[in-house]
Amino acid sequence: MLTVEGLSVRYGAVQALDRVSLEVPDQSVVAVLGSNGAGKSTLLRAISGTHRLHKGRIEQGSISYEGQPVHKMNPATTVALGVVQIPEGRRIFGRLTVDENLRTGAMGAKRSAGRGSARDRVFELFPRLLERRTQRAALLSGGEQQMLAIGRALMAHPNLLLMDEPSLGLAPQVVEQIGEIILEINRQGTSVLLVEQNASMALRVADLAYVLDVGTVSLHGSAEELAATDEVQKLYLGHGAGQQSGAPRAPRRSLTQLSRWSG
Ligand code: ATP
Repeated sequence: MLTVEGLSVRYGAVQALDRVSLEVPDQSVVAVLGSNGAGKSTLLRAISGTHRLHKGRIEQGSISYEGQPVHKMNPATTVALGVVQIPEGRRIFGRLTVDENLRTGAMGAKRSAGRGSARDRVFELFPRLLERRTQRAALLSGGEQQMLAIGRALMAHPNLLLMDEPSLGLAPQVVEQIGEIILEINRQGTSVLLVEQNASMALRVADLAYVLDVGTVSLHGSAEELAATDEVQKLYLGHGAGQQSGAPRAPRRSLTQLSRWSG
């Protein structure tokens, strides 16, 4: 569905990504793990075309979505194709109501006809948002704001959802709920590329996973295989494994062999 090949991205003198390759198969959840500054957000920005807003530049490589090269497209075209990003930090409009925020999500969508059904889907997934639909978004809790950010993205009918650290700043129980929501969204047919520092949650919901290390892919494979590696155990699951949602679930299909990426 999505193929990133040999992608290098720079911000001026800073090399944020160096020949990164990654695949998101149709109907899958793919997690990207990595510490601060590893280049996770840059990867999502390059896919959604928003890297230019951050003064980022694609130096080499390509990104194709369902066979179409998207790395030269603008963000609006990418959204119209069905690739929708939820940025880190939610970025909801605090002064607008829940309903109004959801309406902004539908604005870039190609299929405005399906707006009602998209809203129904959002309220089904998040009954809490239905209860609070006329309230200003600033009054919602952190978890509810994250749900609104996800709901807003769903209003654009994504085929591929790009999620940037949805667990950021949320209590473990809420993170658990976000994980369940990601699984449900995926079950309903939307693929998800999930950037996370919460490796426990990410590996539990993902089929495939990649580890980014200072701009390069250091490991990739099935989520289950990655979770069993010493590196992931030590660096990403070491302290949090017991506090979060337990062991990753078994992968849902036959996945790529775990391998070290040579760059
Ligand atoms: P975090 O988990 O902290 O969000 P990340 O893995 O998402 O980190 P990026 O935000 O993609 O990493 O950053 C990758 C590198 O690019 C870092 O060295 C960062 O300082 C740098 N960088 C990111 N955005 C910019 C920018 N707009 N201008 C200059 N450098 C940037």
